[in-house]
Amino acid sequence: TGPVQEFEYQAEMKQLLHLIVHSLYTHREVFLRELISNASDALNVARFRQLTDKSIVDHDAPLEVKIVLDKEKGTFSIEDTGIGMTKDELINNIGTIAKSGTLEFLHKMKSDQKMLDADLIGQFGVGFYSVFMVTDEVTIETRHADADSPAYRWKSVGEGKFTIEEIDRAKRGTKISFTLKEDAKEFSEDWRVKNIIKKYSNFVDFPVYVGDEKVNTVSALWQKRKDDLKDEELTEFYKYLSNDYQAPLGHLHVALEGSVNFKALLFIPETAPLGFFRETEYKGLHLYAHRILIQDDCKDLLPEYLRFVKGVVDTEDLPLNVSREVTQSSPVMGKINKVLTGKVLSFLEDWAQNDTEKYEKFYKNFSPLLKTGVNSDFSNKDKIIELFRFESSAAEKGKMTSLKEYVARMKAEQKEIYYVSGDSRESAERNPNLEYFKKHGIEVLYLLDPVDLFVVPSIHEYEKKSLKSIDKADVQVSKDEEKQEENAIQESMSKSFLSAFKEVLIDKVEDVIASKRLVESPVTLVVGKEGMDIQTERMMKMFNKDFT
Ligand code: ADP
Ligand code: MG
Repeated sequence: TGPVQEFEYQAEMKQLLHLIVHSLYTHREVFLRELISNASDALNVARFRQLTDKSIVDHDAPLEVKIVLDKEKGTFSIEDTGIGMTKDELINNIGTIAKSGTLEFLHKMKSDQKMLDADLIGQFGVGFYSVFMVTDEVTIETRHADADSPAYRWKSVGEGKFTIEEIDRAKRGTKISFTLKEDAKEFSEDWRVKNIIKKYSNFVDFPVYVGDEKVNTVSALWQKRKDDLKDEELTEFYKYLSNDYQAPLGHLHVALEGSVNFKALLFIPETAPLGFFRETEYKGLHLYAHRILIQDDCKDLLPEYLRFVKGVVDTEDLPLNVSREVTQSSPVMGKINKVLTGKVLSFLEDWAQNDTEKYEKFYKNFSPLLKTGVNSDFSNKDKIIELFRFESSAAEKGKMTSLKEYVARMKAEQKEIYYVSGDSRESAERNPNLEYFKKHGIEVLYLLDPVDLFVVPSIHEYEKKSLKSIDKADVQVSKDEEKQEENAIQESMSKSFLSAFKEVLIDKVEDVIASKRLVESPVTLVVGKEGMDIQTERMMKMFNKDFT
């Protein structure tokens, strides 16, 4: 044993702890889920070390979680035989906030009453601190699995400081213990704790004991037959898996045997988690081999544009003791990825066809990401394009239409698909270049999502019809009309009139021409053949400002 060293929390951490202690009252029981989830993470790491390293502490110790309650004293402890923590890990992983989203979380919590729910905390990489909802003082005793690593005691009374000292502890793993606050004594009751575990942690891969009784019962839900899956079970599993507090929007069960063998249980969330679109570091699907968790953040199972999908994949085609590197380069992964991508896209197409309401909900949340698939997944480009939806001049505000529907409505003589972009339907409709199309009853799609401008131009054509921005200068106008209108224009506007404009605007514009497209507005700015359209230009400006 050694001297007691004192440490101060980061300022941001102090703020966080203050909030947890003083603002979180609902769902306080999630502290238990967070502690069990950390134990389970640590046990997974230990399992991998066991496979390759005979020298680790307690090599053959069973992988498990033990919770001990004392109702009289009002105490709680949870102990795992996981990987444990070194001194550096205690300081760096417990004393600091690792994730960038956390500050945002803080602000959101302060400003939005709805968000003051402890259930959200697991999403932000600060799950451990939820323990301060139910206690004022926490002790961690831990010994890392490395044979020469000493054991330590970490102690903290929450908001200000924590201490670390070396202790004698022979066992591998981590024990976390505390006395419950007066108003949180319920968490030293057997039945209460067991119920919470059943609710939140039933799917943990390791046995969780309360006293001598193993409490978690369900495992490997994805191995069940489709018809045997119950809704509540699926919802709880999804929540466990994703840290989401809402039920999923839908799920997809895949069981494949043949050239590639796997089972998958995938979920589409109801809403995008906070910061979802800015996140570059995201968790992928959970990868299992022979029912054993191999990786809980496997990004190789689906392309990035589908990273909103949560779930597990369990395959017989990978060896059990497979490493991250081997997994990545295994052809099995490529095969699974290909099948799953197709399944997810078909699943969405099915919603799009048969459950429009659900699809539009999904679309509102995740289409900005989905649509980028057009630029990155060439083999599925056509399937992704079918999933696009737009507002349109032929439909009332809020109604969405597909390219297929647009084409079906096209007039016989119309050769191209037209679109206009804008920040809102109203601003798109103010575009003077629309006048011609309105007058002639030609439908124009409204591109209102900024992402559209990066992806729609690369669609090029749909059912052999090219997609054209109405801002481009070379929009085709039918020959007859062209003649008529040209004559009219030539009568009313002499060449000298145009050159007068050119003289004045000499440095500001490429050219001044008589427009065949305006109906009511006297003048409009259009983009030259090679130029960016107006919205793209605006986007580029926006990106340069905010994203570099
Ligand atoms: P997260 O689990 O999202 O990383 P937490 O606040 O729950 O965030 O935990 C912070 C870190 O503390 C973990 O990443 C892990 O390094 C460490 N930790 C917590 N509990 C344990 C445990 N029982 N065994 C080993 N390490 C742990
Ligand atoms: Mg955690």
